[in-house]
Amino acid sequence: MSPATRFKTRHRRVALAFAEAILPGGEGAPGADERTITRLEEYLGRKNMEPLLPVIGAALTALDATSLAFYRRRFSKLSRQEQEEHLARMAKRRVTQIPIHLVGALLKLIHFDQTPVIEALGGKRPRVLPEAPPSWMQNVFSAADWDANEPLECDVVVIGTGAGGGVVGAELAQRGHAVLFVEEGEYLGRSDFRHSQVESFENYYRNSVWAVGNNIFPIFSGRLVGGSTAINTGTSLRPPKFITDGWAERLGSDDFSMEGLDRYYSHVERVMEVQPAKREHIGPIGDVIARGCDALGWSHYALPRNAPGCEGEGFCGFGCQSGARKSTNESYIPAALRNSAMLLTGMRADQVIVEGGRAVGLRGVAVKNGKRLEVRAKKVIVAGNAINTPLMLMKQGLLGESGQLGHNLTLHPSSGMLALFDEEINGMKHIPQGYGTQQFIDEGILINAANGDPTIFPVMLGLTGRELMQTTAKQNHVVGFGVLAHDHGPGGRVWASAKGVPLITYNLTKADVHCLHQGLIRSAQLLVAAGAKKFYPGLIAMPVLDAETGLQKLINADPGPGDFVVLSYHPLGTAKMGRDRKTSVVDLHQESHEVKGLYIVDGSSIPGAPVVNPQLTIMAFATRAAEHIHAAL
Ligand SMILES: Cc1cc2nc3c(=O)[nH]c(=O)nc-3n(C[C@H](O)[C@H](O)[C@H](O)COP(=O)(O)OP(=O)(O)OC[C@H]3O[C@@H](n4cnc5c(N)ncnc54)[C@H](O)[C@@H]3O)c2cc1C
Repeated sequence: MSPATRFKTRHRRVALAFAEAILPGGEGAPGADERTITRLEEYLGRKNMEPLLPVIGAALTALDATSLAFYRRRFSKLSRQEQEEHLARMAKRRVTQIPIHLVGALLKLIHFDQTPVIEALGGKRPRVLPEAPPSWMQNVFSAADWDANEPLECDVVVIGTGAGGGVVGAELAQRGHAVLFVEEGEYLGRSDFRHSQVESFENYYRNSVWAVGNNIFPIFSGRLVGGSTAINTGTSLRPPKFITDGWAERLGSDDFSMEGLDRYYSHVERVMEVQPAKREHIGPIGDVIARGCDALGWSHYALPRNAPGCEGEGFCGFGCQSGARKSTNESYIPAALRNSAMLLTGMRADQVIVEGGRAVGLRGVAVKNGKRLEVRAKKVIVAGNAINTPLMLMKQGLLGESGQLGHNLTLHPSSGMLALFDEEINGMKHIPQGYGTQQFIDEGILINAANGDPTIFPVMLGLTGRELMQTTAKQNHVVGFGVLAHDHGPGGRVWASAKGVPLITYNLTKADVHCLHQGLIRSAQLLVAAGAKKFYPGLIAMPVLDAETGLQKLINADPGPGDFVVLSYHPLGTAKMGRDRKTSVVDLHQESHEVKGLYIVDGSSIPGAPVVNPQLTIMAFATRAAEHIHAAL
């Protein structure tokens, strides 16, 4: 551990008192202690976590200073009850609520992500046997071990293997082109996937990507072969017609209406074997949603997923251990490798080679040993996702002409709602996301099931102390919802990166706040109609509400942008698509206006937020782009 990651003694004392107050143990589960703080220090000592340290230090200082002001005693000297009262007070203040919430969430993450705690709470960790490597793995090479000094040559080089890169590369390999994929992450086997938030964040999620503005927005994405498709929940939705009609109108082409895009969506749905989730894998949460919606006259449905042979293990977000989910690492990439494509893993591309106004290759670095590698290609496709793609291009000073690169970032902000039921829900024994309602999709509200487990629920709950432990112990009776809001505003911006940490801004507009608030109200109505006893909205200062009186309190609440617990899984839009090179970055075929032969085929160039989970859309656009690139080769 580097010395910079050790807390100062006074911070350590406050952090320990904070941890013991919110995580006292009980219900068979151990409480937090000195080791929790040591693990937190280790976690914060990991790559790219440095930006959190000043925020955490400031939160701990504020906690101690306000304790002195209120009680004339340091926070660690307060009684447990006083500590709990003081934390609740700080959580209600605009200035302190976000930093205090952040420290609490990190402590919960660290504490509950331990096997003894998980098992004490009735959870499980999967045991997976290593499998034999398939034959197509012979086309996969580690960049660090690649010893040829000559540049590699191919028809098409693709940066990234996720929803955009995996699909466009495989479609081109299938048409007979020599494709080389370059991926910063590793090709993990099923037995490499661990059911640990902390380990997966470290090893194959992209650590420490946050947008800041009128709230803090953690942005999750994958850093492994398969990109974010390899850690996602498999939901595979088409956008509603009003979205595609909007794209067609704005871009002045019927190609972007659902009629125009239908064959691409259909093709991806066939390849990924998309079908509605099965009731036995959805679990009782499906009955709850159906019952609540029926009582209110709302529509409801089993979500279409790309996991035909799903065994319902429920570990989707950590990587699929059965291989049933057809993420690109299990579908498109193996198909491409069988078609003689090649994949370099552990290689971070950092420069597109441009000669005479055309992209002719790329340079990059082997992450493990710093070796430089060069690739020459007829076409270069960047598919690093809506954050990494603009960062890489901006660093090189490419595609800046329109002034739009990095702008127009949408996050599809996601809050949540949990609720306690008498009946058994058994969320941790079923898939996380298999059922939902699109009753309010025209208003920009998407409500999906979000089953959790002992490592996820406590972090989502705004509760602390004994109430947290008691509620966590009843998690077999807890229903979780993800509440996602359409972005209404001009969006956020990816600016640059400093020491590998992206600088990103994003602000919720009034309309976004209204949408999130309405989403929570609709979720509460559904849950109460289905018989919930208590519910726990994703509002920092309103952690628990009673079923009888809570709905009205939630309706009367007037939350501001900083009051929501909010996350992002769906960043999009930072390489604007359009006809005019003065106002957009890529043309209608995702080729850059400025550098010929350079394509952006990932979430960056989707022409607008689709109001639903975006992987199917990114893949449909990648399928369409492949047709054009094939014709141009
Ligand atoms: C936890 C989670 C759950 C989700 N659930 C769903 C869901 O159920 N349904 C849905 O539709 N969507 C879901 N999503 C979103 C969906 O997975 C993403 O929108 C989609 O995968 C984005 O595609 P992409 O091609 O833009 O980027 P990604 O799929 O993220 O792929 C980008 C790849 O590029 C690599 N890369 C980046 N920069 C470089 C570089 N310089 N050199 C080499 N490689 C690089 C990255 O390591 C990564 O592997 C989820 C996302 C997350 C994180």
